[in-house]
Amino acid sequence: MLKYISQLNDAQQAPTLQKDGPMIVIAGAGSGKTRVLTMRIAYLMSQGVDSFNILALTFTNKAAREMKHRIASIVGNSEAKNLWMGTFHSIFAKILRFEADKLGFPSNFTIYDTQDSVRLISSIIKEMQLDKDIYKPKQVLGRISSYKNSLITVKAYYNNPELQEADAMSKKPRMGEIYEQYVLRCFKAGAMDFDDLLLRTNELLNMYPEVLAKYQDRFRYILVDEYQDTNHSQYLIVRALSDKFQNICVVGDDAQSIYAFRGANINNILNFQKDYDNVQMYRLEQNYRSTKNIVEAANSIIDKNKVKLDKVVWTANDDGPRIKVHRSLTDAEEGRFVASTIFEEKMQKQLGNNKFAILYRTNAQSRAMEDALRKRDIPYRIYGGLSFYQRKEIKDVLAYLRMVINPKDEEALVRIINFPARGIGDTTIEKITVAANHYGRSMFEVMENLDRIDLKLNSGTKNKLQDFVTMIKSFQVINESQDAFYLADHITKKTGLIQELKKDATPEGIARIENIEELLNGIRDFIEGQREVDGARGALSEFLEDVALATDLDKDTGDDDRVALMTIHLAKGLEFPYVFIVGMEEDLFPSAMSMNTRSELEEERRLFYVALTRAEHQAYLTYAQSRYRWGKLVDSEPSRFIEEITESFIEYLTPTETNYRYKPMINTDIFGDVDKSKLRQTKPVAGTPPKWVTDNEPKHDMPIRRLKPMAGGGPAPSSTAAMPDSKLQPGNVVMHERFGKGKVLNIEGAGPDRKAEIHFEVGGIKKLLLRFAKLDVI
Ligand code: ATP
Ligand code: MG
Repeated sequence: MLKYISQLNDAQQAPTLQKDGPMIVIAGAGSGKTRVLTMRIAYLMSQGVDSFNILALTFTNKAAREMKHRIASIVGNSEAKNLWMGTFHSIFAKILRFEADKLGFPSNFTIYDTQDSVRLISSIIKEMQLDKDIYKPKQVLGRISSYKNSLITVKAYYNNPELQEADAMSKKPRMGEIYEQYVLRCFKAGAMDFDDLLLRTNELLNMYPEVLAKYQDRFRYILVDEYQDTNHSQYLIVRALSDKFQNICVVGDDAQSIYAFRGANINNILNFQKDYDNVQMYRLEQNYRSTKNIVEAANSIIDKNKVKLDKVVWTANDDGPRIKVHRSLTDAEEGRFVASTIFEEKMQKQLGNNKFAILYRTNAQSRAMEDALRKRDIPYRIYGGLSFYQRKEIKDVLAYLRMVINPKDEEALVRIINFPARGIGDTTIEKITVAANHYGRSMFEVMENLDRIDLKLNSGTKNKLQDFVTMIKSFQVINESQDAFYLADHITKKTGLIQELKKDATPEGIARIENIEELLNGIRDFIEGQREVDGARGALSEFLEDVALATDLDKDTGDDDRVALMTIHLAKGLEFPYVFIVGMEEDLFPSAMSMNTRSELEEERRLFYVALTRAEHQAYLTYAQSRYRWGKLVDSEPSRFIEEITESFIEYLTPTETNYRYKPMINTDIFGDVDKSKLRQTKPVAGTPPKWVTDNEPKHDMPIRRLKPMAGGGPAPSSTAAMPDSKLQPGNVVMHERFGKGKVLNIEGAGPDRKAEIHFEVGGIKKLLLRFAKLDVI
């Protein structure tokens, strides 16, 4: 037997060794689905399938690269190079470039990112004189995106009274017109947005049978990872391409379907057997990733969902430690707990930073974590959020580069026509837009023809516009003979961008210049990589495509010994020895916006299942009793998902009884009038007395530094640091960082358990644990 096949268990070998025909592998997290897909590709090649004939679709480009790397180590580099592997978007963007003319697009079409799309929609809404508080640009884009992912074109929209009625009911009767304008403007600008890459591929395959036949013949073997999260548009592409040979292998886990909000359709997995003849169905049951405690805890959660396929997941791994649950008073404190725990685990077990991940429901939660990690000098990397390529200064440079490749690109043009300032004002830009709409041309074309189109501009303005056109054209000439790095470097200097940034000597201003340098480095790396592969010049257009489709996970920084911070959505498919799932609170996770229906709640629960199953060795669940959300301090209750885990898999690091006098721990909406104190009494786990950890007193690392009074009688150290809590008396008036001024009513408990009951002027009566509370006696 081939050596790599023997590294699979029997259940994994079966789908790996079935060469032909449609098949589906349904299996729980960590059971080796991705591994099967990888090995299957190597096996197909060993059976004489040409690597050109294999297409593998993955969730991130990084996953595709890793797979390719693995396959290369088995079959050799030169063979692996020809495999078509990547995300739906990156693969079909490439195909669309070959075939663009059939759809009336230039082959150098621009890919608009979400920011570009929102900006274009905003200007359409403005031009149509609509109220942007009703027609919220992001929401409008969301609607358009869902139409496109369901293959509802503008024409189909106008033929569908129900959709129009639904939009009219939500006070947006002119959605259709906006949609139409948006599609038109993208077309005129030679641009496609992310959803277009799928929609237009469908259009291409539907309208041109010979094109469909060509790609059916090319992709004789198709493999799809994370099939549960494909949307309708993606489903149809896979369906069409695999129709002739029916050699299609999809792997997925219905319990990990977490993108319904973006149109993913779980029915794709449920209906697969109906779509093809003689489908082989495989199940994998053994989890190799996680400890027994984690696997069984995850099973106990997903059991609560009603809509699911029956699956068994077990592991031969050790029991491992229980899942640790920690409560803190505030989000800042939650951050401190996570950072100090990482620090301690690292020290005790001599682990690298990259063994840890912090996962959260929303990007906004990263800030408290970042603050705490920084204070502990723990290096980290945030995935998602505002990515490098979304920063203003980077987008400015990229906009110049985009104009060189596709001067019709309207969003790029609007961005840079007057940046750095050239004295081209809004009125002029508006005149150009109107003329462009009138003549059905791009703005750049209008600017090229100012001698023939009279825009009633004064000669100074006209000259400025013509200078701009000449400048872009001069860049195009350079692009024909030089590589992308040379051009980008030239552009940053020639346009005055760098000089402009140098005017700002603040740290932020300097960071912007460094970012541009980083971008130039990135371009250089890219072209060197390209040269290695095919000796190419390092084409700018390819770099731009890479950037447009890069997800944050795709970037390799070289320096990867960092704690990973990301949303749970982004963590799909990944694994880490230690995982912290933070913000385990009602209204945050499950999210307040996803609790209206059972199916929404079940999707949140699947999200929790995904989060927990990322952990190999140890999972932590943390929650705070209050946190800042939307600029306000909000009280919170522990997430119902904690309650849903079978208790024997959990260890409570903090007792559950304290600090709850003024706050029900259980969501009253769900439990009605149940006696909450009884529910709470079921914890902590019998036989395991609650344990305390002191996370505000660093143990191994730095001593607590206190400000020394300055020579000559400087300010005294703050009373918090100096004041032993034991001196606090009922009757004292205190000041709290967040709650403001209050009066101490009562003191109780001793040692780490010592609490004060304080009546705050604004927040009312609160009980605070003194070892955490930052109080100043006034
Ligand atoms: P997810 O649902 O999270 O995407 P998955 O089903 O794709 O998980 P993999 O990522 O392929 O699972 O595998 C999980 C881990 O188990 C990986 O580290 C993988 O290398 C390991 N693994 C899988 N199968 C085996 C095996 N037969 N022997 C040893 N290790 C294995
Ligand atoms: Mg996987």
